[in-house]
Amino acid sequence: MSTAARAPTAEALLAARGARATRTRLRALGVLLAAREALTHHEIERRVGRGQDVDRVTLYRVLEWLVEQELAHKLAGEDRVWRYSAADHGGRAHAGAHAHFECSDCGRVVCLDDTAVPSVALPRGFRRREVEVTVKGSCDDCVR
Ligand SMILES: [Zn+2]
Ligand SMILES: [Zn+2]
Repeated sequence: MSTAARAPTAEALLAARGARATRTRLRALGVLLAAREALTHHEIERRVGRGQDVDRVTLYRVLEWLVEQELAHKLAGEDRVWRYSAADHGGRAHAGAHAHFECSDCGRVVCLDDTAVPSVALPRGFRRREVEVTVKGSCDDCVR
């Protein structure tokens, strides 16, 4: 992607938070930043690993930590598998929640960064936990 060159590196993002740049943090965040779509734990593990052993539990903790730090967000697809995405696409900070696209054919989940989740008025006394807007359909690969 053309915006990739301007995107902050995993090192820079961790440094900006004063967080320790462990190898797994750097590599997991690097994988998410480079991805065009949201990735499952398994996909991240494969990409982080590249021939080296990655401890599953460590990676899981790192992914949860990235979510806590708001460096990544996670969402569950129709298959109820969590997928992770960098919270910063193309160097632009995610301002608030955005919509997602989920391919019903291949399960691919893509962040629709330009589409903000609308604010929804709730009845008095109701409290929101989260709002998810997901467009379902067929991705470009599957349409082809
Ligand atoms: Zn698809
Ligand atoms: Zn997203």
